[in-house]
Amino acid sequence: MNPHDIAFIGLGNMGLPMAANLAKAGHAVTAFDLSAEAVGQARSQGLRVAASAVEAVEGAAVVVSMLPASRHVESLFLGETGLLGKLAAGTLVIDCSTIAPASAKKVEEAATVRGLHMIDAPVSGGTAGAVAGTLTFIVGGEAAALELARPVLQGMGKNIFHMGAAGSGQVAKLCNNMALGVIMAVTGEALALGAAHGLDAKVLSQMMGVSTGRSWATEVCNPWPGVLENAPASRGYTGGFGSDLMLKDLGLAVEAAMASGATIPLGELARNLYAMNKQAGRGGLDFSSVVKLVTG
Ligand code: NAD
Repeated sequence: MNPHDIAFIGLGNMGLPMAANLAKAGHAVTAFDLSAEAVGQARSQGLRVAASAVEAVEGAAVVVSMLPASRHVESLFLGETGLLGKLAAGTLVIDCSTIAPASAKKVEEAATVRGLHMIDAPVSGGTAGAVAGTLTFIVGGEAAALELARPVLQGMGKNIFHMGAAGSGQVAKLCNNMALGVIMAVTGEALALGAAHGLDAKVLSQMMGVSTGRSWATEVCNPWPGVLENAPASRGYTGGFGSDLMLKDLGLAVEAAMASGATIPLGELARNLYAMNKQAGRGGLDFSSVVKLVTG
């Protein structure tokens, strides 16, 4: 097997630019997606495409997947017709999807039984990071599997953190996104409180940006329209990280808390806030639109 032969499954908002960056880095990428539209876009970017996932992995030394949720990953890899059964021993599987830690562990265990290497490697950095090749990979699995994966991950990102055994990458990703979801919601509340007292949200954000209330939500993705020209809030909350994706991640955090006995009162509250944002019709908008719950 040539270690540069990579099959890439899942060519959505994240997967397509990641696959394109691997090809640019000199790997031989064969791509597949269930959506004909996604396959068409991959072809127009010059990627070699396969007619099925099974065809894509033929002869591949590495399989990368970037799918929406746990059920997609389990149905791709597991079961009698699952992809794990089609891979030669020694093949490396890198799942970059954000899924339940328990699901990641289940797939990794099934891979290990078959003599495959597998890591969970969810990402942070969003679609901009996927396009720029600057993603952060948050990895769970055996150290030896990560070393095999490192040159592949370096073709798509710049930071790699090994968090521990299989599933740990997913746990860490959920911790980060839970903190982000809570911080975004409370930053919106703080700005709304200031505005209700006649303060200018821009000046308030600038003050917080050099004070202890500073965060990614004040500095980069400020939820108040007009404060930061390039933030989703200043273009009708379009682009950015979808509110429904945040809702999904907070749901996974709640599940993970229940499985471990950890208590996450703010995480649970935040999950409800993003569920309310969805009910208000803003699930498809950037997650900073959660501020609308308090500003109307
Ligand atoms: P997306 O919905 O744009 O893309 C997912 C793609 O997977 C779709 O094209 C779909 O057709 C394809 N797919 C589903 N099942 C398949 C299968 N069995 N075989 C082949 N293709 C299949 O989603 P996305 O925004 O690219 O996100 C992918 C993952 O990355 C999610 O788990 C998400 O939570 C995570 N993530 C997203 C972002 C972001 O900003 N979009 C940031 C970090 C992490």
